[in-house]
Amino acid sequence: MNLQKNRDEIFQAVAQATKEAHRSQESVNIIAVTKYVDSSITKDLIKTGIEHIGENRVDKFLEKYEALADQKLTWHLIGSLQRRKVKDIINYLDYFHALDSVKLAEEIQKRATKPIKCFLQVNISREESKHGLLVEEVHSAVQTIKEYEKIELVGIMTMAPFGADVAQLNDIFSKAHALQKELQQLGIPNMPFTELSMGMSGDYKEAIANGSTFVRIGTAFFK
Ligand SMILES: *Cc1c(COP(=O)(O)O)cnc(C)c1O
Repeated sequence: MNLQKNRDEIFQAVAQATKEAHRSQESVNIIAVTKYVDSSITKDLIKTGIEHIGENRVDKFLEKYEALADQKLTWHLIGSLQRRKVKDIINYLDYFHALDSVKLAEEIQKRATKPIKCFLQVNISREESKHGLLVEEVHSAVQTIKEYEKIELVGIMTMAPFGADVAQLNDIFSKAHALQKELQQLGIPNMPFTELSMGMSGDYKEAIANGSTFVRIGTAFFK
C-alpha cells in the first residue's frame, strides 16, 4: 500500500473532475475516510497531505481523535449517530454528515455547547436500507430545526445505491443538488445550505460533476 501514491492519484483525479465541471479547485474538499485503518496508518496518511478526516462510527472516531490530538485536522462524523451517543461525541465534531431526524436534532440541541455544522442526510434513491429523510419530509424538518441554534445546516448529504450506473448516479446527484439550491434560496439564518456531501471511491467523479463540495473517500486511499 503506497499511501503517497494513492493520495496523489486521488487528489489529481478530483482536480481533473473539478476542472471538467468548470468549477474552482477550492470548491471541492476531500475527506479521507479512515474507518478501514488504525491510528498509526492514519498518521502516515496525514503526512502525505490530508486536512479532513472522516469516520462513520462513534467509538472509532473517538479513538482516532484522541490518538491524533496533536494534528491540525478537520473532523467529520459521516455515519449515523444514535441519540444516546450524542453527548459522547458532538462537541468534538467539526462537521456531522448524517442528521436524519428531528429527534436527533433535538438531542444535539440539548447536548452541544456550540453550534455544530450539520448536513441533512436525504435518502434521494428511496432505498429501504438507507438512512435519511425522504425528500417530502425535508421541508417540515427544516422548519422545526431552524429553531435550534446549536444546529447550523450547511448542506445536504446523500449516498447513491451500491452498483448504480452512471445514469442513475447523475439522476440521484442532480436531484440532491437541486434540493440543496432550493433550500439555500430559502435564506434561513443559520441554515446556509451551501454544501453538498456526496461521492465515495466509486462515484466521486459523477458527484463532482453534479456540484459536490465534500467527497468522502475511503477505499481508494488504502488499496
Ligand atoms: C465508508 C464510507 C465512505 C467511503 O466509502 P469508500 O467506498 O470506501 O470510498 C463514505 N461515506 C460513508 C457514509 C461511509 O460509511
